[in-house]
Amino acid sequence: MSIPFEIGQAFARDLDMQDELKAFRDEFVIADPDLIYLDGNSLGRLPKATVSLLRQLVESEWGEGLIRGWNLGWWDAPRRIGEKIATLIGAKPHEVLVADSTSVNLFKLAVAALRFQGKRDRVVSDVFNFPSDLYVLQGAISTLGGRHELVLMQSKDSIHMEDSEFERAVNDRTALVELSHVTFKSGFLYDMERVTGFAHEAGALVIWDLCHSVGALPVRLNACGADMAIGCTYKYLNAGPGAPAFLFVREDLQEKLGSPVWGWLGQENPFGFDLRYSPAPGINRFLAGSSPILSMTAVEPAVELVQRAGTDRIRAKSVRLTEYMIFLYDRFLSSRGFVLGSPRDERRRGSQVSIRHADAFRIIRAMIEDMKVIPDFRAPDNIRLGLTPLYISFSEVCEAVQRIAHIIDHNVHERFTHERPTVT
Ligand SMILES: *Cc1c(COP(=O)(O)O)cnc(C)c1O
Repeated sequence: MSIPFEIGQAFARDLDMQDELKAFRDEFVIADPDLIYLDGNSLGRLPKATVSLLRQLVESEWGEGLIRGWNLGWWDAPRRIGEKIATLIGAKPHEVLVADSTSVNLFKLAVAALRFQGKRDRVVSDVFNFPSDLYVLQGAISTLGGRHELVLMQSKDSIHMEDSEFERAVNDRTALVELSHVTFKSGFLYDMERVTGFAHEAGALVIWDLCHSVGALPVRLNACGADMAIGCTYKYLNAGPGAPAFLFVREDLQEKLGSPVWGWLGQENPFGFDLRYSPAPGINRFLAGSSPILSMTAVEPAVELVQRAGTDRIRAKSVRLTEYMIFLYDRFLSSRGFVLGSPRDERRRGSQVSIRHADAFRIIRAMIEDMKVIPDFRAPDNIRLGLTPLYISFSEVCEAVQRIAHIIDHNVHERFTHERPTVT
């Protein structure tokens, strides 16, 4: 990166002045301007547009319109919102659906892919993957009779994944490769095009989990020849807690794959009430049951905000934010017992910077309870600093690092216990 960063709040304010996306912060509810929220990669902030839209949905569409709402936009929501998400991930409009959770979508696609791949008996993932993904893969294997082996690629430094691991793990027995595009702990960013190419050479299909990349960087599924993808909407897409997820299946694969969940919304004629299942044409076959309209409605205005900002501009700011965070880490945190837990090469890094510390858990308690900085903790020693470009300022990055340094210098964390709440 060519920006010569300097130390000090005045410099951070200059970066804020030059920030093309700075106006987007006003699109979000910021209840306490002094609270530095670095956890948008777990749960994004609430867009102001969502507040009024949900009020209208509940009071008017549901309260007054009742069942008529299904014909006034609810029924079409999975496809209509899917088309908008498609613009963020480089997919065609009819290749994306909003439905279920990421975990459930992965199950549907993994079972479909393994069935399609016939005799091939290996599934490849990595030790970086979100545990739910690995559990779902184990569950898919068990559902299909336990004849597949799950192979996990290992990392030498627990930050990066090397190409050599890939060459070791993927071969002509591999049915499916499933990876997080950006890994949740270190924020390592896979080269989607390269990895997809490798897998295809071996005859394997790939499912990309976009949870930590959608809304944070441009994803180019079609340009990379991607087969399938899944992702959530409540992280960098800001659609709210438990908002439904999305799935992508490349056009030419749709008719070849079948969902293992044969629900009526994925049937070819839901209101024909036929007693036998036959799959809907196209992407709709991956729907199962009725959509959670209350939470699905919140996805649309949030996705529109990201569309307006543009994923290239979002990525440009994200790279500056993470570069700046690492610059400050080098000056202020490495000497205070922290170790960088994310890639230094911006091309291999998502929109977060992880810093590791032996006392990470208590430092986080001090950050949240005393210093008004909210990061999150990922065992055993990761403090994840998520930098959502739509609402994080450079001044906040600078201030957050100063507050963390203050905790160490004044032993603030030593007043906290190691006791863990349910959600960290
Ligand atoms: C956040 C996240 C999930 C979440 O799964 P849900 O089923 O939506 O709870 C799954 N995979 C990855 C990689 C994630 O980061």
